[in-house]
Amino acid sequence: MTYHAGMRGMPAYEREPYLTELDTVVVEVGEMAGQPWAVLEDTVLYPEGGGQPADHGRLGEAHVVDVRTHEGAVRHLLERPVAPGPTRVSVDWARRFDHMQQHTGQHLLTAIALGRFGWRTTAFHLGPALSDVELDVPTLSRDQLDALEDAVAAEIRAARPVRARRVSPEEAALLPVRSRLLPEGFSGDLRLIEIEGLDLNTCGGTHVRCTAEIEGLKLVATEAMRGGTRVFFVAGGRLRRRLGTHEARNAALRAVLDTGDDELVAIVRLKLEQLQGSQRRVRQLEEEAAETRASALATVPERVVEAHFDGVDGAFLQKLARAVVAAAPAKVVLLTASRGETHLLVLAAGERCPLEVPALGKQVLGVFDGKGGGSGRLVQGKVGSFARREEAIHLLRQAVGS
Ligand SMILES: [Zn+2]
Repeated sequence: MTYHAGMRGMPAYEREPYLTELDTVVVEVGEMAGQPWAVLEDTVLYPEGGGQPADHGRLGEAHVVDVRTHEGAVRHLLERPVAPGPTRVSVDWARRFDHMQQHTGQHLLTAIALGRFGWRTTAFHLGPALSDVELDVPTLSRDQLDALEDAVAAEIRAARPVRARRVSPEEAALLPVRSRLLPEGFSGDLRLIEIEGLDLNTCGGTHVRCTAEIEGLKLVATEAMRGGTRVFFVAGGRLRRRLGTHEARNAALRAVLDTGDDELVAIVRLKLEQLQGSQRRVRQLEEEAAETRASALATVPERVVEAHFDGVDGAFLQKLARAVVAAAPAKVVLLTASRGETHLLVLAAGERCPLEVPALGKQVLGVFDGKGGGSGRLVQGKVGSFARREEAIHLLRQAVGS
């Protein structure tokens, strides 16, 4: 939407947006923050501007990773330095044509949103997956969005020519130009982009030559922002690629859930409800199991109570250890658990057990070469393995004097 001056004279990307390579001359080289750059006599590579990202391409054998306007010159940022002199510059055409489709799609969308519906575009972003325009309307219903999308589709089918031309500011003042967003202090000829019979706008970007080349444009989402509405869209080849991705995902979901497209959401909801129900039941069963185990462990004759569990978590171990020492306050309890590669331990002592639990915990974790901590009457930790479990239990028996 905004205009930028580009390089001295009219660059090739502006004169001939469909030109993919060009023999030219490297006239200036340099380095910016460790990255080499080159300025060319002429270029087919579009520098970032007006919402359209920079082109990528090649300069001789070097990859061009970014293109920026710097004090009126177009700098090609390179992955490695090049020497001044004759060269060939070429554009990554798939990326450029995609940008031309999104960008021209935006011109059409903006023109129709304003001309037919009275919604003014206040910003445009061309993103790697989705592009968006910000419209100065607080909300848009699905019906309004459908009407906008249908109107855009009709103008794509109408195959209206899209043309660029330069005019003097005096000439532009007499034309029905939609916006006049120019860089501060800009003077000189203006570049106008016309969608024949529909729109006339200042722009320095690259565009397809006919609305039919936009292929299609789908409004995919909206987002409220700053009193306006951000409308996300996809145009051109992206639309087909995105549909392909969605179809592949749906096919995978249909296979996993063994159902048709129409039932996918309902089946997933049902499965999630079932899962939540099962999780509640597992927690309940674990509580019951912990109570049963705690009363069994509390009644063992030894002062050192120890047990190992597979597949339980740290919370279960803590709950069980607390229940055991609550029921048998003179005992010290060492509980261990393994789940996959994770090995956990909890050490706890009852109120009538005179041991210093944090110090003892440090000793026990030392036996396992593990890490952990705690305070008061309970210590928990993570260890590499329980190979030296017997040694730890022996240490505890010595500590309680049994
Ligand atoms: Zn444009």
